Amino acid sequence: MAAGQEQRRRRVVLFPLPFQGHVTPMLQLAALLHGRGLAVTVLHTCFNAPDPRRHPELTFVPIHETTLPDEVTSAADIVTQLLALNAACEAPFRDALASLLRRGHHQVADDDDDDVACAVVDGQCYAALRAARQLGVPALALRTDSAATFLCMLAYPRLRDAGFVPIKEERLDDLVPGLEPLRARDLIRVDGSDTAALCGYIARVADAVRGSASGVVVNTFEAIEALALAKIRGDLSRPAFAVGPLHLLSPAPAAQGLLRAPDRGCLAWLDARAPRSVLYVSLGSVARVARATFEEMAWGLAGSGAPFLWVVRPGLVAGDGEEAPPLPDGFAEATEGRGKVVAWAPQREVLAHRAVGAFWTHCGWNSTLESVGEGVPMLAQPCFADQTVNARYVTHEWGVGMEVGEEVERGRVAEAVAKLMAGEDGARMRDKARSLQIQASAATSSSMDGLVRFMLSRRNANV
Ligand code: UDP
Repeated sequence: MAAGQEQRRRRVVLFPLPFQGHVTPMLQLAALLHGRGLAVTVLHTCFNAPDPRRHPELTFVPIHETTLPDEVTSAADIVTQLLALNAACEAPFRDALASLLRRGHHQVADDDDDDVACAVVDGQCYAALRAARQLGVPALALRTDSAATFLCMLAYPRLRDAGFVPIKEERLDDLVPGLEPLRARDLIRVDGSDTAALCGYIARVADAVRGSASGVVVNTFEAIEALALAKIRGDLSRPAFAVGPLHLLSPAPAAQGLLRAPDRGCLAWLDARAPRSVLYVSLGSVARVARATFEEMAWGLAGSGAPFLWVVRPGLVAGDGEEAPPLPDGFAEATEGRGKVVAWAPQREVLAHRAVGAFWTHCGWNSTLESVGEGVPMLAQPCFADQTVNARYVTHEWGVGMEVGEEVERGRVAEAVAKLMAGEDGARMRDKARSLQIQASAATSSSMDGLVRFMLSRRNANV
């Protein structure tokens, strides 16, 4: 039997968590697996459901999670959201997977196309990992963050025992043993959530991977995270497949997986700009900033004199609910002719546009990889969660960006933007970003081949 035919008989079940930064890489992985002959079913929550019409090659099945508490849909901190989501998904995910397995059994006699080889679930969904294990389905955890972040999560219990966590003011600049180049100040943090809650959540994630996963799949590539990947493999004693950058390797078009409609008008606006003249500004899909910070950002942009494209997402300002935040009085006039504000941008196309010279980013992992993939240097404004880890790698390890500063202040912003767009430091960072881009585009799909072989070698306990 030809390898392709054999592969066509196996099905992989994917389960992303319903956030932009999680759905996107999971659907990119889905496209890659489908391209290698595997049948793919995406189980998904009804909340923030992906649009099946955009992915005709995949099968979508809603799990009908229990009603999500307000915590998930409102502005609660991310730990509270993730705990609530896990609780709401556990039983419905198990039922949906069990139902797929039953269907598979019934079809085996005449058509074994539906034999579930394995599941890939969002690495933050410890409940789904456990549920798959209970059903005897081999499960892999997809890390939609960096290898360094995941290593940090695996190390958290040790760091807590060693007194590094909770982070102490006087140790903020100490390098964290085993996690260099991270300093204590770069460790995962969640404002508004106490350390005990964060540690408890991280322990659940780490325990689920150790106890229930056959391995991990990480959206990264060896050239930028070889050491962190090696440490993860050593710690877990099981495979960690570095299959990224998924957005470069996946055949999925840039717009697939987007939960909001992008304002494509900004591409025509960019067309009329000089090469590398525009600063693209976006803090991703979930970060919220205080109104005072938002205003400092605005006036910093105004003071920098640089042309800019700014994503002001509804909900960006804390306390505004899901409303579009009003721009400060006088801002439009002060930046007339050189600034464009949109509610949501086609980010990958924006970063690939020749007019874009730098990216002011919160350093979400997808945004970081997208910027690396286009050779665009970054101004880092990490807000929470893994963003501090990514910002440290961007600025210190790879040298492709600089921090906007602990406090966002208009004068410092204007200075940093000028440095990055036109200064010598910026030119150095741009050179480094270009060489990282070359390494990113040289990342091969060999790790994906290894992942597919691994999946096909799995036998779920129900077959
Ligand atoms: N994104 C986009 N348009 C925007 C802002 C963000 O398409 O205006 C996409 C971006 O390309 C990335 C994702 O949203 O793929 C954000 O993921 P990331 O991990 O960077 O941050 P998160 O939103 O999870 O904090």
